[in-house]
Amino acid sequence: MTKPQPPRGTQDLIGTEARRHAHIISTAQRIAALYGAAEWSTPIFEATSVFSRNLGETSDIVTKEMYSFADRGGDSLTLRPEGTAGICRALVTNGLTQSLPQKIFYAGPMFRYERPQKGRYRQFHQIGFEILGAETALADAEAIACAAAILRALGIDDGVTLNINTLGDPQSRDAYRDALIAYFTTHEQKLSADSKLRLEKNPLRILDSKDPGDIALVANAPTIAPYLTDDAAAFYAALKSHLTAMGVAFVENPGIVRGLDYYNHTAFEFVTNRLGAQGTVLAGGRYDGLVEQMGGPAISGIGWGAGIERLAMLIAEPPAPPAPIIVIPIDATYEPAAISLLTQLRRQGIAAEMNYRGNLKRRLERANKTGANWAILVGPESSTDQAALKNLTDGTQQTLPIATLLQQLAPRP
Ligand code: ATP
Ligand code: MG
Repeated sequence: MTKPQPPRGTQDLIGTEARRHAHIISTAQRIAALYGAAEWSTPIFEATSVFSRNLGETSDIVTKEMYSFADRGGDSLTLRPEGTAGICRALVTNGLTQSLPQKIFYAGPMFRYERPQKGRYRQFHQIGFEILGAETALADAEAIACAAAILRALGIDDGVTLNINTLGDPQSRDAYRDALIAYFTTHEQKLSADSKLRLEKNPLRILDSKDPGDIALVANAPTIAPYLTDDAAAFYAALKSHLTAMGVAFVENPGIVRGLDYYNHTAFEFVTNRLGAQGTVLAGGRYDGLVEQMGGPAISGIGWGAGIERLAMLIAEPPAPPAPIIVIPIDATYEPAAISLLTQLRRQGIAAEMNYRGNLKRRLERANKTGANWAILVGPESSTDQAALKNLTDGTQQTLPIATLLQQLAPRP
């Protein structure tokens, strides 16, 4: 019989892999809290319109990647492909549009129907950070600095480069859009089929194309700089100055446009060359129109998302949890006393294990095999609240009062 397999593009997280994910999330939670974020958790599915109306009709996600289904009541639902739309929906739903700014951290699974390959899955996981209700470029810089601090805390800032760009305000964008249409129209026959469509609907998205032919054309496309309004140029200049004040290194890259329609002003990506084609580990930007588009008031937003699987491929293996102390009743008579000691150890915050079965010899063999450093042998001395602490590394053993033993083994803060 063939073994059952998980759905294509999904994976089980077990052992080291699970530890890598947990380490990334706890590190990011800790750093995001330093930047004032509260953690939100929103449903992993939303009404399909939350994504289809808001991510942009030409985005990869909406055109080909959504996991949408009709539920038993006939409502169209979609497994969330990203976190921002749900967070904005939640801001409006929960009446928080008067309590601004809000700084939000989230972590959880995302779903996209993609061609699975290294660093690209159908169920993957993201950490993300959003600041809602702050119009100033200082918020953009803070969101980016928080991202940089998380990458540093994970030990992967080396070899990861921050690329920033501006998409301007709507006026700059319209002018730039016209320039792009003019340019790409003269090369229309060389564009990929997807990009021909984008040329009509959202030519900026051509800059984000992964098609080699498109990439060659994009190299000579006009950049946005000459089309920026004074306000948009000032916003971008302020962002750069704040980043410098925060000690965050960056390079300017006019090719960073981001895949979703809702971005304006700031767009950025942290990119590495250590993951082949899937080099973007963390990406985001400013999305001032999104909350309003969802039926809320005009509230600005800036944020980012990062793929945990891609981060997990870059980090060093997190330290293994301490080996548990193995409790061993020397024979079945002492099992109740051993269970009681096992319970006390765990109550004191000391990781402890007792095998479910086996004689003394088997239990010692197994303790040695699992790499434990200490065993506690529970025998007749237990009647006077004593037990034998055995050092499994050198084989020495000493009988101690249980209270002393608990003290000796207590985890050091
Ligand atoms: P790409 O250009 O690689 O498709 P994207 O623009 O679709 O990325 P975003 O929507 O910005 O990606 O998502 C933010 C981050 O989430 C990415 O930088 C990446 O680290 C991660 N990510 C996106 N899609 C996947 C996926 N299918 N599998 C694993 N990680 C992903
Ligand atoms: Mg994508």
